[in-house]
Amino acid sequence: MAKIYYDSDADLGALKDKTIVFLGFGNQGAAQAQNLRASGIPNDKIIVANRDDHYAADAKSKGFNVEHDFAKAAEVADVLFLLVPDQVQPRIFNGQFSPKLKDSVTIVVASGYNVFYNLLHFKASQDVVMVAPRMIGSSVRTLYEKGKGFPCFISVEQNGSGNALTTTLALSRAIGATKAGAIASSVREETAMDLFAEQALWPNIIALFREAYSVLKEVGCSDEALVYEMWMSKEPAEIFEAAAEEGFIEQLKHHSTVSQYGQLSGALKIDGTAIRAHFKEILHNQVLNGKFQKEFSKIEADLEKEGDENPINQLYTKSAESELGQGEKRVRARLGLS
Ligand code: NDP
Repeated sequence: MAKIYYDSDADLGALKDKTIVFLGFGNQGAAQAQNLRASGIPNDKIIVANRDDHYAADAKSKGFNVEHDFAKAAEVADVLFLLVPDQVQPRIFNGQFSPKLKDSVTIVVASGYNVFYNLLHFKASQDVVMVAPRMIGSSVRTLYEKGKGFPCFISVEQNGSGNALTTTLALSRAIGATKAGAIASSVREETAMDLFAEQALWPNIIALFREAYSVLKEVGCSDEALVYEMWMSKEPAEIFEAAAEEGFIEQLKHHSTVSQYGQLSGALKIDGTAIRAHFKEILHNQVLNGKFQKEFSKIEADLEKEGDENPINQLYTKSAESELGQGEKRVRARLGLS
């Protein structure tokens, strides 16, 4: 059983007199910095390191001290939250932060990716920890403001100081992560689950919807009916909401008897052997062995490109060619939604 840490396990006193630097003031950075300050960490002990642009302006407008010179921010950091996109972290951290950081700094990642694949360079004396919210930044902030917590995975990956867990728990509490219980995890577990969901589970769900759309279209179902039936009614969103609240299987009891019988008996009839083998292949030979990371690193430089030269845009164009993509486009245009 994974250990779960609560506010009572964490002592904010462990952060006393520490200078805390947030590299990045985007989705997670803005939310976590504001939560941390609202938890009583003095504003003059918090620095937002950001290029001089609208993110920096946002941080300034919220009263934060902003440092555009990353070397200066690195030199004073006792704690460094790495909250820029995963694909840019190695370049910025290894190039601009790592050479200037204190030997005693605590480096905090919000995702396991770069640490699991050894893409960041640390000194053995430094603490490397993960505090990884399972929520988008806006929810991290609004749940904190409502006095609620949010699900979060935490771990100590390198305990240079010998006190890394104490610091991790204090930081987790300060951003509001131990209120609902922070789950002990690791960068391996977080990366495995995250990338598995992204590369195995959801691609299959997307493909199931795509193929289901075409099969139903073949028997005369209209685009309008299909788009509403399959997702625009928000029924799938409601089902997942109920699954989180009441249980993955238990929520089925809200459905009609015909539906319950169809779903339960249908799922049991599907032999999972092939899909399990497919999933294992992706998990072991794509995620855990680093194959995907190497593939992704080859296209990273192109992600800044505009239009058709950007590999993600190419994938969007290709995906839009499916019957589902075309049908949805027609329906949204007709309803004035695009
Ligand atoms: P964002 O995309 O919101 O980060 C934007 C910030 O990164 C801005 O401050 C931006 O400033 C800065 N940034 C972007 N590109 C560069 C660059 N090339 N050089 C310097 N700064 C740059 O990131 P997220 O908050 O989404 O992600 C941060 C971390 O949190 C990641 O590790 C992610 O995996 C993790 N995470 C994200 C979640 C989410 O829901 N988004 C959920 C849980 C964890 P500027 O462009 O001005 O330089």
